[in-house]
Amino acid sequence: MFSYWEEQSFFHYDVVIIGGGIAGLSTAISLKEKEPDLHIAIFERGIIPAGASLRNAGFACIGSFTEILDDLEHMQEDKVLQLLQLRREGLTILRKRLGDRNIDYHENGSYELIMDNEIPLLDHLDKVNRLLYPLLQGTAFSLCNERIREFGFDENKVKSMVLNHFEGELHSGMMISALIEKVIRLGIEIKTGCGVESIHEQKNGVTINIKDPENKSSVSFSAYRAAVCTNAFTEKLLPGIDLQPGRGQVLITDIIPDLSFKGIFHFDKGYYYFREINGRILFGGGRNADFAGETTTDAALNESIQQMLEGKLNSLILPGRKVTIAQRWAGIMAFGIDKFPLIKKYSDNIFMAVRMGGMGIAIGSRAGEMLADLILESGSRQSRNFGSSRRQAVSYPETPNSKPETRNPGPNHTQ
Ligand SMILES: Cc1cc2nc3c(=O)[nH]c(=O)nc-3n(C[C@H](O)[C@H](O)[C@H](O)COP(=O)(O)OP(=O)(O)OC[C@H]3O[C@@H](n4cnc5c(N)ncnc54)[C@H](O)[C@@H]3O)c2cc1C
Repeated sequence: MFSYWEEQSFFHYDVVIIGGGIAGLSTAISLKEKEPDLHIAIFERGIIPAGASLRNAGFACIGSFTEILDDLEHMQEDKVLQLLQLRREGLTILRKRLGDRNIDYHENGSYELIMDNEIPLLDHLDKVNRLLYPLLQGTAFSLCNERIREFGFDENKVKSMVLNHFEGELHSGMMISALIEKVIRLGIEIKTGCGVESIHEQKNGVTINIKDPENKSSVSFSAYRAAVCTNAFTEKLLPGIDLQPGRGQVLITDIIPDLSFKGIFHFDKGYYYFREINGRILFGGGRNADFAGETTTDAALNESIQQMLEGKLNSLILPGRKVTIAQRWAGIMAFGIDKFPLIKKYSDNIFMAVRMGGMGIAIGSRAGEMLADLILESGSRQSRNFGSSRRQAVSYPETPNSKPETRNPGPNHTQ
């Protein structure tokens, strides 16, 4: 049972965003930048955002050479370019919005390790550079083989190295922290520990149900629009969309004295990636060694992939050196039939920006901007009633918590 004050002030919003990762936070910021009067809340199930946005490698990347080449085999050229543009635009928004210092953004070099069997692919370097030139306004890739020895990699395995001139690195913790600060400064409410159980489309809005840990019942919030930004965890709320989870394994070493390289590194079409961070090596990937096992939303460690990462770390990256592992973790990405995110209307009042693949740090800010535009375009300002939720907090939809829960909540998207 709630008080008059609680019901007046806490249960209705113009827009509720579900998920407090980079996509959800960016959507909220873009909405508020475009319409400052909007009354917006973000519901995040974790005490801190509990998705991929704080479990990634912090590469600010557009795609490695062999990955783009692989994409060109499976996608049309214009689609490959569109994807690259999305990443570029996302990174531009992110850096402009937060400032490089606040996300610890650096360009210490981005390299791809080329193994013996991949050497023939280098014949396509010029072709790929020519294709990307108009978009990037510069040459994307060049060879830098002399650095293989300088960096101390195993020269028996690493036969060539490609430098990418358009990638950088950032600190994912600082990035999410800066986004949250911005969200709060803009007057957006962020409610952590609020796992949404279901969303119900109503005639002119939505109701959103959250389990109340205090009294074990469900609490309903209402909004004119809901934006679902739950990425890999979307199936529970919006079943039937084309989205498969994909787990990624990561480890980080203790500080390595005299580490001979900085920057970010990829190999095997982007399936493996490592970087220097504060004198340590962060190394992740290997999902392609067990696609079936890693198609899960369970953020558990996969022992065999972790062992494989450690093996490659010791043999390929730091041959002849003994290093200790400080920490291991896993995070969940979302993939689909193609590499594009799903940014679209799900039903009249429910919208989504999900399926960020392994590039959500690059794409997330642009995805949020696109989702905000879609929401704002969904009817005139008057017909949306936006901006009125503060004034008539309980007038629409009917105050959800003042009614018994047995009333028909409309189509239930969790069924
Ligand atoms: C190991 C690893 C390495 C990666 N490396 C990179 C990289 O270097 N560069 C890059 O660009 N990308 C990288 N990615 C991908 C990138 O991290 C993701 O694409 C991006 O973080 C997705 O952001 P998001 O906001 O869409 O999803 P998420 O960050 O997953 O956010 C979704 C949020 O929704 C919340 N949520 C879920 N269900 C509910 C619910 N029912 N109610 C309320 N809240 C809910 C979750 O707790 C979560 O906080 C990596 C990912 C992983 C796992």
